[in-house]
Amino acid sequence: MTGPDPSRGQELADNLAEVEQRVTAAAHAAGRSRSELTLVAVSKTWPLADLVVLRGLGVGDFGENRDQEAKGKAAGLTAARWHFVGAVQSNKAASVASYADVVHSVDRGSLLTALSRAATTGGRTLEVLLQVSLDGDTARGGALPSALPALALAAATAAGLRLAGVMAVAPRDADPARAFAELARLSAALVADHPQATVISAGMSGDLEQAVLAGATHLRVGSALFGHRTPVFR
Ligand SMILES: *Cc1c(COP(=O)(O)O)cnc(C)c1O
Repeated sequence: MTGPDPSRGQELADNLAEVEQRVTAAAHAAGRSRSELTLVAVSKTWPLADLVVLRGLGVGDFGENRDQEAKGKAAGLTAARWHFVGAVQSNKAASVASYADVVHSVDRGSLLTALSRAATTGGRTLEVLLQVSLDGDTARGGALPSALPALALAAATAAGLRLAGVMAVAPRDADPARAFAELARLSAALVADHPQATVISAGMSGDLEQAVLAGATHLRVGSALFGHRTPVFR
């Protein structure tokens, strides 16, 4: 592998500084501490060299949404925590369970079963977040809020899994502040039954401030760190 282009390294450092400034300002505005927040660098489509630069700058959490790409990057950068943030087809569950530390996108019982089996076989413990659909359009991923209690019980009792919390993407055309407030309510109900499941994964490049204000613990930030993804890749 050739070393990263120095100007790209500077660009990533500048982007990270800007994101850190936004996160810190949002935490202060919300009366929270930066240390309560985990920045997950969503690195899909970007080369491993970029991730290595960010790792060197102190970023320890990376997120990916496609199994094959994630698997390769996780193998190339082991000194990091890997978050799977995209839809998981059940036939990819075993692969995802082999490198992911956290799966943010669990939205059905059959996926829990598959992840549990794979984690147990591999001798690993996976943290799982229940992805919620906040607009009822489950085609874009996420379970209906009404399905959460049963999914939570299944996750909490599955071998090889640790129920860690909830995740959502703000619906298109919705006010993110209202969407994240709804997610916070669902989180509070979950925590009442499962006190350790305190993670709230919410907020991306465009709406991280609203997410921090609503109580998010994990921010999934892609384009503000790496730049805009070229549509041809998707
Ligand atoms: C791509 C992606 C992100 C990051 O989005 P940006 O707008 O680029 O910050 C966050 N969450 C999920 C689930 C994603 O697929």
